[in-house]
Amino acid sequence: MKHVIVGGVAGGATAAARIRRADEQAEIILFERGNDISYANCGLPYYIGGVIDERDKLFLQTPESFGKRFNVDVRVRTEVIALHPERKEVSYRNAKNEVFIESYDKLLLSPGASPVKPALKGIESEGIFTLRNVADTDAIKKFTNTHKVNHAVVIGAGFIGLEMAENLHHLGSEVSIVEMAPQVMTPIDFPMAAMVHQHLNQKGVNLYLSETVTGFERKGNGLEVFFKSGKSLQADLVILSIGVRPETTLAKAAAIKTGEAGGIWVDEYLQTSVKDIYAVGDAIEFKHPLTGQSWLNYLAVPANRQGRIVADNMVFGNKTTYEGAIGTSIAKVFDLTVAATGINETLLNRQSIAFKSSTTHSGSNAGYYPGAMPMTIKINFDPENGLLLGAQIVGYTGVDKRIDQIALLMKHKKSIYDLIQLEHAYAPPFASAKDPIAIAGYVAQNIISAKMPVIYWQDVLKADATSVFLLDVRTEEEYGLGTIPGAFNIPLDDLRDRLSEIPTDKTIVVFCAIGLRGYLALNILLQRGFSKAVNLSGGKKTYDAATYIIENNLLLGTQEKRTQELDLDIQSPKPVKKFLKVDACGLQCPGPILKMKKTIDDLQDGDRVEVVATDAGFTRDAQAWCNITGNRLITKASEAGKYTVVIEKAIKEQVVDIHGNQPLNVAKGKTLIVFSDDLDKALASFVLANGAAATGQKVSMFFTFWGLNTIKKANKPTVQKDIFGKMFSWMLPSDSKKLSLSKMNMLGMGSLMMRFIMKKRGIDSLELLRQQAIENGVEFIACQMSMDVMGVSREELLDNVNIGGVAAYMERAEESNVNLFI
Ligand SMILES: Cc1cc2nc3c(=O)[nH]c(=O)nc-3n(C[C@H](O)[C@H](O)[C@H](O)COP(=O)(O)OP(=O)(O)OC[C@H]3O[C@@H](n4cnc5c(N)ncnc54)[C@H](O)[C@@H]3O)c2cc1C
Repeated sequence: MKHVIVGGVAGGATAAARIRRADEQAEIILFERGNDISYANCGLPYYIGGVIDERDKLFLQTPESFGKRFNVDVRVRTEVIALHPERKEVSYRNAKNEVFIESYDKLLLSPGASPVKPALKGIESEGIFTLRNVADTDAIKKFTNTHKVNHAVVIGAGFIGLEMAENLHHLGSEVSIVEMAPQVMTPIDFPMAAMVHQHLNQKGVNLYLSETVTGFERKGNGLEVFFKSGKSLQADLVILSIGVRPETTLAKAAAIKTGEAGGIWVDEYLQTSVKDIYAVGDAIEFKHPLTGQSWLNYLAVPANRQGRIVADNMVFGNKTTYEGAIGTSIAKVFDLTVAATGINETLLNRQSIAFKSSTTHSGSNAGYYPGAMPMTIKINFDPENGLLLGAQIVGYTGVDKRIDQIALLMKHKKSIYDLIQLEHAYAPPFASAKDPIAIAGYVAQNIISAKMPVIYWQDVLKADATSVFLLDVRTEEEYGLGTIPGAFNIPLDDLRDRLSEIPTDKTIVVFCAIGLRGYLALNILLQRGFSKAVNLSGGKKTYDAATYIIENNLLLGTQEKRTQELDLDIQSPKPVKKFLKVDACGLQCPGPILKMKKTIDDLQDGDRVEVVATDAGFTRDAQAWCNITGNRLITKASEAGKYTVVIEKAIKEQVVDIHGNQPLNVAKGKTLIVFSDDLDKALASFVLANGAAATGQKVSMFFTFWGLNTIKKANKPTVQKDIFGKMFSWMLPSDSKKLSLSKMNMLGMGSLMMRFIMKKRGIDSLELLRQQAIENGVEFIACQMSMDVMGVSREELLDNVNIGGVAAYMERAEESNVNLFI
């Protein structure tokens, strides 16, 4: 029997080796157009980043060693250029450009997928690469070895794009990721992806989401990357990673059937529409076991498994069937591990499959054991019978085994009740007695049984204050560090005594940090007559992640470095009386902050404490806590999923700010609440802000309700809005040029006159004053709650505006001696 195989990597090489094991007499010819076979394409990004130090480690076999071991005629640098099924032959071209014919009894196609490279202007410029094989890898490696890559742009935020971003960052480049979708890693749902956004920002990676690249231009030694939105980025190197397409050219030309998803159609024996021609790997489409729809699944595990199955069918006849893959994947994104299996919300919605979700935050190990790390699990399931439809996990350690357990259940069409029944090996160094996936199952069970009615973060964003009451049941200290805009605080332990403060005619949305205390509070409320109470799924942690605003210019990574540089110990070393170390790893918010507070309460002035936590929001919370309490944050840093701060206990009179020279107790900052959008009042606001900024004071302007109209962009991008948002847009001034005077506006004549007179007298316009304020370092904060109420989205506001809540304003007001409401 003569077997011919096209493609010598994952599917092709696996099949060749298996055919030989099954039939010692068979003739096997393996065609590969590249130089290498059976190499580790999944390791290529790590070789570029220097994590895998030797190129040779990428190769499991050389063509020669593989050929000898398995008695296979390996023909590299040889491309199959046509199939002739009618006479059972293929045409191929060798490295000398000679064309020959080879016959076969059985033919296997494993040609993989090819990277998408749209015909954009300048796409062939030097410095732009795709990454698919060893030749691409060598080209990128050569470029990074011979050029200084200060700034790298990665286009496309799939797992290969993110792996490249991490590895280029590892090489020392400043990295920007550009992605057309509003999130990275489309197999996972938005709030889970948002945790990745936050982590990338913390690592100093710039993220440009919902941005489409339109072209490139070489400028000097670098490139300019242009976006549809009008923005552009400078780059020394560009990695194009916007997806792949199945290699179907040969198959189509030979009239082999392709399917609705665009891949080569195969039956359950992995045979194509033509007898004795088989296909595997990235090139094929196959029915998804859960949806029944054909789909493309570009992953190594299915390609290897299909290679083994197909080999048996080619040797022994069609006996072994392939069951299909549900898309189980995992990726390392800096310190995070991100994994997914099954179907995400987008696909469930697209296929009109009813589902419910649960999001749970747990620890990888027993919380008391060193090294316990947080883990977030989201599962999507059938609302009637609990059938598991999809699962995603974002965490640090132990993510892999959890996703594999869920994938195993899901592949066998099991439900959330089976999650609960899973028996896992437990000792503190490995897990916790209540495993994160069991907790996910319990919570899902509570949701299905209506024991815990839930609301999701996006519904809270849309909630209308007239019918919804947001109830934060965390402690007062946690509430003081920030809450969901508009939320009222009754700590869980006080709830039974303060029920009279809760309205009876509204939907009560209860929330806590992660959902557990919210659930306890919900039980109290439901049993005490508040029948419309619901718990926020995933708590504030999920809400915060989902509403996280990307901070490209205010990178925590950079701030961390700056903080370290400005450490007073470095500038003027000072003996520290006592230095304590506190391990708050494994504790969920507010655990680390409370532990830190308790330790500091027991310290003497001038003593220091170093606190290490695994909660991703810890450094931000510690900073806010210090600002409020007057204690001093000395350093903050993050590494391998651990967040460390050093705090010095200080009496207020001795407290200095981060620059080490401003006594904070002599508050000198100024804050302005800009509530009105009257032109005259807006002018007064910016004049005052500029005046205050000129004296060197920190000035913060908090724009709320109508005041938001003064900081809208003139050329706004189009944004999707609900009906109320659209109505507000029609009724409100679209930007500062449309503002009216508070008196004598006379259908707009008054404001025109005012602008005319100001111009004549050489007084700066509102827009110029506003620009000066930005240049003078005045901080603009837009009120999140007002934005939600008035349907204003982030994209409509000036780029320099930060979004914040009341806590953000209060923090500035604490440090100020003048607070104005205009
Ligand atoms: C950078 C990178 C990282 C990845 N990381 C992961 C990961 O972490 N996890 C994971 O599950 N998957 C990962 N993958 C995907 C995984 O490698 C693929 O799913 C898998 O290799 C597909 O196997 P295949 O046999 O279909 O195609 P490939 O392994 O791509 O092999 C196809 C081969 O066919 C050759 N070929 C094509 N046409 C012809 C022709 N006409 N004549 C001769 N030869 C031809 C090509 O040159 C190619 O070498 C990664 C892929 C890349 C590129």
